[in-house]
Amino acid sequence: YGGKILPKKFYQLSREERLQQLVAEGSLAENDADYLAANHVLPSAVAAHLGENQLGQFPLPYGIARTLMVNGVTRNVAMVGEEPSVVAAASNGARMALAGGGVQVAVPEHTVTGEVVFADVADPDAAVALISSREDDIWDAAAYAHPSIIGRGGGLKQVQVQAIGQFVKIRLVIDPQAAMGANMVNTIAEAVAHMVGQWLHQEALLAILSNYTDDPVVATVAIPVAAVATKSLPGSVVAARIAAASAFGFIDEERATTNNKGIMNGIEAATIALGNDYRAVSTAVHAYAAQSGAYQPLTRWTTDGKMLHGQLRVPLQLGVVGGATAALPLAQIAMRLGKIATVADAQAVLAALGLVQNLAALRALVGPGIQSGHMALQAGALAIAAGATGTEIDALTHLLQTTDKTIGRAKELLAQLRADK
Ligand code: NDP
Repeated sequence: YGGKILPKKFYQLSREERLQQLVAEGSLAENDADYLAANHVLPSAVAAHLGENQLGQFPLPYGIARTLMVNGVTRNVAMVGEEPSVVAAASNGARMALAGGGVQVAVPEHTVTGEVVFADVADPDAAVALISSREDDIWDAAAYAHPSIIGRGGGLKQVQVQAIGQFVKIRLVIDPQAAMGANMVNTIAEAVAHMVGQWLHQEALLAILSNYTDDPVVATVAIPVAAVATKSLPGSVVAARIAAASAFGFIDEERATTNNKGIMNGIEAATIALGNDYRAVSTAVHAYAAQSGAYQPLTRWTTDGKMLHGQLRVPLQLGVVGGATAALPLAQIAMRLGKIATVADAQAVLAALGLVQNLAALRALVGPGIQSGHMALQAGALAIAAGATGTEIDALTHLLQTTDKTIGRAKELLAQLRADK
C-alpha cells in the first residue's frame, strides 16, 4: 500500500502487543497489564467462598470494546463471553457512534426497592392504616438495621403501604449509594418485616428487594447517515432500513426478543466483566421490556435521511462496591479500563454499549446480513471443535474463511493440513 506498511489495527495485534499498546496510551496500568498477561486464576480461598460446592474455575475470554465515547469521555469496555462476534460488533458500533460525537447517557437516581409482604391479613385496610400511622418507627428500624449506609448519605428514601387483595405490602425505596444494594435492602426489609410482624401479630410472608424498576438509563446517539453506509448501500438507505427494522420490532415480539438479545450481548458481557450480578440486570431489563404488557424493543431508531437517531432505555441495577466486585481482580481492572468510578459511570457505559451493540447488529442485518461476519469469527471455534490445536487453529481458521463453515469441511481441511506437514 503505497510502499508503506500500515499500522496494525488493535484486533490484529497479538495479545501481548495489545496489552503493551494499552499501557503506552495510558489506558492500562503496567501492573494490571502484568496481571492480565499472567492469566491468573482466583486464589483457592476466594473461589471457595464465591461458590458453593466449588470444583474448579471456568475461564472465558476477557476482551475490550475500543473507543466507546460516552458523555464525551472515551472508554475501553471490558467484556466477558463465549461469542466471538460480540466484542467485534461492539467496537464496530462504537466506531460508528464516534461519527456522531459518541453516545449521550442520562442516568436516573440510583435506588432499589424492597418489598415486605403480609398474606391473609384479616382486615387489610386497618393494617395499612396502622402501619402508615407508625411510619416513623419504620424509618427508625431501617436506620438501625443498616446505620453505615446513612453515614454514606444513603438509606431509606420512601415508604409506601398498600393493600392488594388480602395481602399487605410495604414498599421501601432505598438508596444504596455505590453498592448494587440487594443485600443491604434485604437486611433493611427483614428488620422492618420483623417489627411490623409484631404490630400485626403475624409473621411477614416475605421480605426482599425487587429487581424491577421502571426508571431507565437513557442512551442516545445521532449519527450522520454516511457513517452507516455499507460496501453496497449508501448510508441513507441503510439508515432507512435500520429504522424500518426497528419499527417492525414494536409490532413483532419475535423480532423484539432477538433485538434485545443483541443489546444484552453487550450489557451482559460487560456486567460479568464488572463482577456484577448479571441475573439481576437481565431480569430487570426483560421485565422493563414487557412493562406495557407486550414485549417491546429496548431501542428505537429513526432517520430523517441525514441523521440516524437511536435511543436505548434500559434499567441497570449495578454496583461498583460490594458483592463480588472487590474479590475479582479482573472486575477491578474492568473498572479502571472503563474509567468507571461510580454507579452512574457504570450505568452510562453499559447503556452506551448496549446501544452501539444494537446498531452494529441492525446494520449487519439490514446490510450484508448477520452471517458473513459472524461465521468468519466463528471459524476459530469451528477449527477448535474439529480438533485443531496450537498453531493449527490459526491456519485452519484462515482456510475456513473461504469455504463452507461446517464441522465436516473443517475436519477435511485439518486432515489435509496435517498431511501437508
Ligand atoms: P454488599 O452486601 O456487599 O454491601 C455493600 C458493601 O459495600 C457494604 O459492606 C458497605 O459497607 C460497602 N461499601 C463501601 N463503600 C460503600 C459505598 N460508598 N456505598 C455503599 N456501600 C459501600 O452488596 P449489596 O448490598 O450491593 O448486594 C449485592 C449482592 O447481593 C450481589 O452479590 C448480588 O448477587 C446479591 N444478591 C442479589 C439478589 C437479587 O438481585 N435478587 C438477592 C440477594 C443477593 P458498609 O456496610 O460499611 O456500609
